[in-house]
Amino acid sequence: MHFDLVTIFPEFFTGPLDHGILRRARETGLVEVHVQDLRVFTKDRHRSVDDRPFGGGEGMVLKPEPLFEAVESLLGRGLGNAEQPHPLEPKTAIVLMSASGTLFRQETARRYAELDRIIFLCGRYEGVDERVAEHLATDEISVGDYVLSGGELPAMLVIDAVTRLLPGALGNEASSQNESFSGSPASSGESSSVGAQHAAPLQARANPIVSEKSRELQITNHLLLDFPHYTRPADFRGWKVPEVLIGGNHAEVANWRRAAALEKTQRNRPDLFLR
Ligand code: SAH
Repeated sequence: MHFDLVTIFPEFFTGPLDHGILRRARETGLVEVHVQDLRVFTKDRHRSVDDRPFGGGEGMVLKPEPLFEAVESLLGRGLGNAEQPHPLEPKTAIVLMSASGTLFRQETARRYAELDRIIFLCGRYEGVDERVAEHLATDEISVGDYVLSGGELPAMLVIDAVTRLLPGALGNEASSQNESFSGSPASSGESSSVGAQHAAPLQARANPIVSEKSRELQITNHLLLDFPHYTRPADFRGWKVPEVLIGGNHAEVANWRRAAALEKTQRNRPDLFLR
């Protein structure tokens, strides 16, 4: 997988790319990351990448020319114009980071992990000339319902989420399968919903609506959050690890984890049940 980052702050990425899974993926050649300074593609003395908005108003807007030229330079070819646009090579995405884009989700990460190359365009200031979203980017992506000051952190989030899905990126291949949003909390298929009811954590048992929902969801296999994890000590300041996790009964552990994942999803992200 080849990632390119087009930015006015190339130094921004030195830290985030140099740790953990991302670092190892780069070292082993699983991913290649190239950071492209947008200012290289300016032509004036001040190397300006932005200009005032047509129609008036606050702030500055990133100009289209340097962004188009940066991408053309990365691709090694022209992309045409309104009369004659040149199509992009398959398995390549040009992703504009934007607070008004479509929401980035785990399913987006899974789709991106199938590509060969992703070019990220990081906005700044008031945003980016709309012709970039319309005629250069293949995707306009938001990482959440809040406004950040630049597209660099959002692009980093996407790179991180995609990289850990690439075969061989995680030490343990199973670890990207049984986690939040993977659609299979705990080890699905191993246990019955009746068992899950039995071993449900306190809150879930006390709430018949959650329990009812739980039964339904075990059948439909919705997107769920990960189940809670615990490690030693078993008793920390009087807060004890759930007994069932210590007992060594794998079926009971699986049931408990499934029920706990449902309960936590209901508590923290009830919206996931509606999707
Ligand atoms: N005026 C814009 C915000 C611009 S913020 C608006 O109201 O929508 C400057 C840049 O930060 C954007 O161009 C984009 O690249 C990035 N950015 C800000 N919030 C983001 C988000 N939630 N997801 C992705 N990128 C974001």
